[in-house]
Amino acid sequence: MEEKTKAEALREALSYQPKHTAYVIDAQETAVSDAFCADYIAFLNACKTERETAAFVKNLAAQAGFAPFDVKAQYAPGDRVYADIHGKALILCTFGTQPLSAGARIVASHIDSPRLDLKPNPLYEDAELAFFKTHYYGGIKKYQWTAIPLALHGVVFRRDGSCVQVCVGEEPGDPQFVVTDLLPHLDRKQGKKSLEDAVLGENLNLLIGSLPFGDKPESDAVKLNILRLLNEKYGIVESDFLSAELEIVPAFRATEIGFDRSLIGAYGHDDKVCAYPSIRAALAVTAPRLTSITVITDKEETGSDGNTGLHSAYLAQFIEDIAAAQGLPGRDVLRASECLSADVNAGFDPIFPEVHDKRNAAYLNRGIVVTKYTGSGGKGSTNDANAEFVFKVRALLDGADVAWQIGELGKVDEGGGGTVAKYIANLGVEVVDVGVPVLSMHAPFEIVAKLDVYMAFKGFSAFLEK
Ligand code: MN
Ligand code: MN
Repeated sequence: MEEKTKAEALREALSYQPKHTAYVIDAQETAVSDAFCADYIAFLNACKTERETAAFVKNLAAQAGFAPFDVKAQYAPGDRVYADIHGKALILCTFGTQPLSAGARIVASHIDSPRLDLKPNPLYEDAELAFFKTHYYGGIKKYQWTAIPLALHGVVFRRDGSCVQVCVGEEPGDPQFVVTDLLPHLDRKQGKKSLEDAVLGENLNLLIGSLPFGDKPESDAVKLNILRLLNEKYGIVESDFLSAELEIVPAFRATEIGFDRSLIGAYGHDDKVCAYPSIRAALAVTAPRLTSITVITDKEETGSDGNTGLHSAYLAQFIEDIAAAQGLPGRDVLRASECLSADVNAGFDPIFPEVHDKRNAAYLNRGIVVTKYTGSGGKGSTNDANAEFVFKVRALLDGADVAWQIGELGKVDEGGGGTVAKYIANLGVEVVDVGVPVLSMHAPFEIVAKLDVYMAFKGFSAFLEK
């Protein structure tokens, strides 16, 4: 063995240099990671919208012994409950051996992703083509949503109050949909516009058909034919769109990326790549010391407002309810509680190095990224986690052999963003962001590294169990 130079030894003792997880994980654990990611890919293909994800997880939880939360019941250590938040968000809770006065351990992620929603009155015909008008949801780069296969998911409440589920474009043989783009031959003016203006939000109209009803030319016969088909399949009429939530998402399947299959490409990694590991951790935890609460929320991508978003009272009210059953004020539990806000961060992309501070960026395959603060400008509108709590999380992750790194969201003054961390911190809870680095975040097809997905599961498990 070669002797280390004095400088090498000193560097090893004093410097901080995060490594590719492949250098620190053994073959056995790599196999566990691969199996975990195969399950994650199947989950992504089954759950593209917040409603589908909440329903899928509720079903998983029920099979794992979680019962609907009963505000009047008394719960014992190890009891497992769930609270369904309007079918779009879900809380899973396993009661700890310690009373709630010791605080709860919360992992919060979101299950909504950027997409196109149908407008309330969406259907029209122009030039003998039928379209749905859309209103985009969350932060999208509009040009990315043209000329890709799209699927339609959601619910329609019909005139009689009955609900019909819609999912078209996912099964083999299903038709799919598309937003058209301009051919390069005729895009001289479009090509001179900024990326933001080249495709307008108002023009993100979904092509849905082109055949007329009947055998004589008539106005809006293509639209009429679509209405006929929708009526035959779903029993709906045009006015039923008024009481519908229909979401357009990429029709792509989640898939392995790269010759070495080390990456996963999919729609909606932000933030199902944190939600799925947190759910698996929540299902695995059986008798935690502290009560464990796993939240998968809605509406993060539009600012967390609304009664299924974490800016609303639903989490605090749930904690008040479980605290009351133990004779405690909810605020005492909140003050004693700790939370990992489980959300993605931008992975360093060497194609666009100029937006990152290389020394403070998150890198794919270096494990989960702890993000002390997000926000924009001078740390505007963010939870800046307390050093005391960051230390606690650091010690916990190191103690559990979780590969992790620290990361900022891009260079100072380059842009910015936020997570649910501040809404939970504003309740008095200790919170820090911890999540998976992503490439092409918010694109219809986002990229993560398998090893980071597995490390998220390992990290959330350690947090909920210890
Ligand atoms: Mn997110
Ligand atoms: Mn996002």
